[in-house]
Amino acid sequence: MALSFSCSSAMPPQHQVNVTFGSKNSLQNVKNLIKSIGIPSKSCSPHISLQQGNWVKLICGASFEDVVDIRNLSLVYTLAGVDCIDCAADPSVISSVNEGIETAREIVPIRRPWVMISVNDDEDLHFRKAEFDPENCPSNCSRPCEIVCPANAISFEREKSTVEVLLGTHQTGKLKGGVITERCYGCGRCFPICPYDKIREVTYVRDAMATAELLKRTDVDAVEIHTSGRQTQHFRELWDDLEDSVRYLRLVAVSLPDTGDATISSMNEMYAIMEPHLSCFNLWQLDGRPMSGDIGRGATRESIAFAVRLAASRERPAGFLQLAGGTNVHTVEGLKKRGLFQTHITSGAVSNHLHSLIGGIAYGGYARKIVGRVLSSMHSQHGLTGIEHHAEHLLEALKESLDLVGTVKSYNNPFGIQQ
Ligand code: SF4
Ligand code: SF4
Repeated sequence: MALSFSCSSAMPPQHQVNVTFGSKNSLQNVKNLIKSIGIPSKSCSPHISLQQGNWVKLICGASFEDVVDIRNLSLVYTLAGVDCIDCAADPSVISSVNEGIETAREIVPIRRPWVMISVNDDEDLHFRKAEFDPENCPSNCSRPCEIVCPANAISFEREKSTVEVLLGTHQTGKLKGGVITERCYGCGRCFPICPYDKIREVTYVRDAMATAELLKRTDVDAVEIHTSGRQTQHFRELWDDLEDSVRYLRLVAVSLPDTGDATISSMNEMYAIMEPHLSCFNLWQLDGRPMSGDIGRGATRESIAFAVRLAASRERPAGFLQLAGGTNVHTVEGLKKRGLFQTHITSGAVSNHLHSLIGGIAYGGYARKIVGRVLSSMHSQHGLTGIEHHAEHLLEALKESLDLVGTVKSYNNPFGIQQ
């Protein structure tokens, strides 16, 4: 069935288009359409975005390793104009991110976002997987774990008994399937919901030496170190192991939770450890309420409160501040209410440069959710495929991503989609 797309009234009239796709969807169709619409993504370099306070990072997830979704998410959000894509420190995942970026750049000649890999200095919520043996699950369980998982990372089939097969009766056999490991990103929502306490948490720490090798890749631009901030000894050990490879980078980020009064002093300790070998920009990721942005409006409150406290401090070390953890489409509105959105400072204890108090925002669960719906629909219709081959899905995903990225970049979504 042919699909018709036309731009919204927000578009300047000279850019209005009405393109119909028949069965021969092609990359050229997409190129022509996007060229005629005009993607409003900024072309300035990512570090200028940080200075201007309109930096946007897509978080694919430190533990999310579904390379098909990661490639498609990277493609869509590159077109939407993100400055950075943060992913797991895994060679296949990094390659998928870069493939998505380069495919996007074949569609529109847009600047390349930085690629960041995430590692941990110790046990951390972002570096864990859920695990259980479905054969141990009671066959009459209503499977709330499957419903609660935001990543569609739990899936079951029921093994039919021979009698059931012969009689065609209701299935009561053992469960098969369980956690799809590469899709689990460790949010933890399934752990408390299992009525039989069957789900285990498996934590891991990324190997520092393997990470150091990944940082030498020419398609990796940045590293993010997740830390609790409580044990700077772990941070020091990891930094020492990464030290030689950090010179290849454009940005070093440290992601940390709000530990109250101890936060600033641990930031200063970590900065003192990094400073002698820091030859690039550095950033503090304020992880308000980890992995919760998809839950709803209120999830963003903690990251905003964290940012308010840090922005007011004169004792914090140098480095851009960026929100994460609970961020969603309501975050900019919350920052504006607190007078922190693109509010510039001219000088001070932490900087001699003109730049924004808050460098920008990272979006994880929320960003994946709004585009993930489109990807799921595409996969159920066409199987595992590149989104550039399905113009109707690409445009729908672009609309969603531009709605989100545009809140920070201050541009209007240039097109609506009507069927
Ligand atoms: S930890 Fe989160 S992502 Fe992983 S299986 Fe459980 S609910 Fe799904
Ligand atoms: S909720 Fe627990 S018992 Fe039920 S299917 Fe899920 S893991 Fe198994």
